Amino acid sequence: MNVGFLDLSRQTLTLEHELERAISRVLRSGHFVLGKEVEHFEDRFAAYCGARHAVGVGSGTDAITIALEAVGVVPGDEVITAANTCVPTIVGIERAGAVPVLADVDLETCTLDPADVERVITPRTRAIVPVHLYGLPAAMGPLLELADTHGLELVEDCAQAHGASWRGRRVGTFGRAAAFSFYPTKNLGALGDAGAVTTNDPEVAERARLLRNYGERERFRHYLRGHNSRLDSLQAAVLAEKLPFLEAWNERRRLLAALYREQLDRTAMSLPDDAEDRRHVYHLYVVRVANRDRFRSVLREQGVDSAVHYPIPVHRQPAYATLDRKGGFPVAECLATTIVSLPLSPEHSDDEIVYAAETACRAAPATTPR
Ligand SMILES: *Cc1c(COP(=O)(O)O)cnc(C)c1O
Repeated sequence: MNVGFLDLSRQTLTLEHELERAISRVLRSGHFVLGKEVEHFEDRFAAYCGARHAVGVGSGTDAITIALEAVGVVPGDEVITAANTCVPTIVGIERAGAVPVLADVDLETCTLDPADVERVITPRTRAIVPVHLYGLPAAMGPLLELADTHGLELVEDCAQAHGASWRGRRVGTFGRAAAFSFYPTKNLGALGDAGAVTTNDPEVAERARLLRNYGERERFRHYLRGHNSRLDSLQAAVLAEKLPFLEAWNERRRLLAALYREQLDRTAMSLPDDAEDRRHVYHLYVVRVANRDRFRSVLREQGVDSAVHYPIPVHRQPAYATLDRKGGFPVAECLATTIVSLPLSPEHSDDEIVYAAETACRAAPATTPR
């Protein structure tokens, strides 16, 4: 059997009728940027998250920039984020003029380690950006407490975690603002680039609305220095068609993750955090193994694709060497050499995942990672 990592056409084909209907509605409307379709999706998505407002923007990266600017981050402010995140989180922070400062992460949850966050806080720190990486909420209790104690803003990077929750509350509602991506591969994906900022604060929502559209409130009246980062009507219409399926897709991801766990529990590999107070939505199913590259090539020989998210930490990238520090980020560095993402999407069949899991079981090294 061959198990591919991700085939987006499977989902698009099952929804072909709904998507075509939505797209032709927009074609006939003659309105292609913002407008009714976008407002409708924003309302539905805010309700889904349990947030008061959602503001549609051009991408997840832009959502991070706009969320930070909307909560008052200004050029020169330091913004702390996770050392194992992907580069776009850093791009989003720098586009707001802020200085990204990395903090190391927890080995089991792959999310920000609050103790290391506390270590890197300086008088210039203005915000913390926890990343709910792979679909697992970061340790929101301790992070909110830190933000509170030090008078910092908390802006969540929810790009991989639509519908994930911590103690029953959905991500996107913990900080003053949050950023979502609807890049096609995400748990809720558009047919191109798209993103959103969520917030419970009406002033933050209003500023985000201005910032995405050149700072303009009424026509030709500019109150802020903004961007061109608006959500297209076509993408909003597509997202509104898909949103009602998101819960079922997330449940399917969790069921497939349970199939993996059943098989892999008896190996020496380290499995994703399964704590009861966090609802993991498995954007990615990431395990840790010793001898990762050998493991992956055995999987490949047996027809099972895998990937690594992410092989080179930000501070080890040529463009971002200045983000490194003395002693580096040992946990993020260890993760980068031991993590493997196994195939998992709502469209994978049970048989495919059982085959991938059995194959991974056979290929698993006998020793624990690290
Ligand atoms: C995808 C992603 C982003 C960026 O979103 P885009 O829509 O691709 O700009 C930011 N942070 C994380 C964690 C992501 O996975």
